[in-house]
Amino acid sequence: MQVSKSNKLANVCYDIRGPVLRHAKRLEEEGHRILKLNIGNPAPFGFEAPEEILQDVILNLPTAQGYSDSKGLFSARKAVMHYCQTKHFQGVGIEDIYLGNGVSELIVMAMQALLNNGDEVLIPAPDYPLWTAAVSLSGGKPVHYLCDEQSDWYPDLADIRSKITPNTRALVLINPNNPTGSVYPREVLEQLAEVAREHNLLVLADEIYDKILYDGAEHDSFAAVAPDLLCLTFNGLSKSYRVAGFRSGWMVISGPKQRAASYIEGLEILSSMRLCANVPAQHAIQTALGGYQSINDLILPGGRLLEQRDIAWELLNEIPGVSCTKPKGALYLFPKLDPKVYPIHNDEKMALDLLLQEKILIVQGTAFNWPWPDHFRIVSLPRKDELEMAIGRIANFLKGYRQ
Ligand code: PLP
Repeated sequence: MQVSKSNKLANVCYDIRGPVLRHAKRLEEEGHRILKLNIGNPAPFGFEAPEEILQDVILNLPTAQGYSDSKGLFSARKAVMHYCQTKHFQGVGIEDIYLGNGVSELIVMAMQALLNNGDEVLIPAPDYPLWTAAVSLSGGKPVHYLCDEQSDWYPDLADIRSKITPNTRALVLINPNNPTGSVYPREVLEQLAEVAREHNLLVLADEIYDKILYDGAEHDSFAAVAPDLLCLTFNGLSKSYRVAGFRSGWMVISGPKQRAASYIEGLEILSSMRLCANVPAQHAIQTALGGYQSINDLILPGGRLLEQRDIAWELLNEIPGVSCTKPKGALYLFPKLDPKVYPIHNDEKMALDLLLQEKILIVQGTAFNWPWPDHFRIVSLPRKDELEMAIGRIANFLKGYRQ
């Protein structure tokens, strides 16, 4: 007898690790070397975690054998609380903070606790697709609002407003954004707050890249801009502290919590059901947030991440028919392929063709719920010489795709 997946998974997909990646694994097994520009995982590209974080985890390992409180260790949550204070959140206490096995677990938890069948959640297009998958898995309906490439990829307010219905429960923001690298100015956050206020929406702010900023960009947390709104802010150690494998993240509830007593009860049930987040990795949080912020050495002039962003951006824009907005934050570039030059109908096939021809792994734009097959994403994590080689091969491949 066949065992089938549940109907709950009918609309759930996560194409960053989809069919093209499976082809890449097969090619690797056959002995090919694949240049992987597909996943925002800093460690394999030589970005090491700060030594003091590693030492702290090692030191605490013997005492990290038991479960912790479901929401997490007091010391780690206190450090998150202090971090929120530095970012001007108001009224956040220890009990408003949940630690998770990465932001990923907390995104799913937040959606499972919130949604009834048919409830709608506004999600950016393009998005980090876990958000869309988590809404579908929870019985909700993801409704994508456009971000505008002509305006530095800021959310299109008119599009958001046009998509609000009586079933809309929440608004997701990813700032700094994956995949576009957009960092929203305060005015944009204020406009988004206005929409959420008018329609009584819960705001879910994914701020995992809040410390990866370029060209003097500053990051304002949504929770600080709109303290009167109910907001869940997500952040963690995977990117800024280069320990994605530790699976360590947090979620903070702010705003009028008295209006969300039942939802918070739901979050507590789900948090208890998974017992707790990985305890050794919880020990990294206090040291990470309180210690030397070595991420700044990577993003300021002369820093590796900044230099790589620059070279990747320049080289992509030199390819005929390719244009790329300069990312102000995060670890990605999301270039556009002019449809008049490259008449692509199926961008997953394009990514697969590139893989087979040039042994470069990218992610097609539609994997980020972008509605048109005219973008792709690469990470800016490889060293300059690797990026030069990879983008050179992409240019070579695209020659064969031209009209
Ligand atoms: N949110 C965004 C926008 C991301 O890009 C990622 C990972 O790429 C995550 C969340 C997941 O992070 P974590 O490793 O904390 O689960």
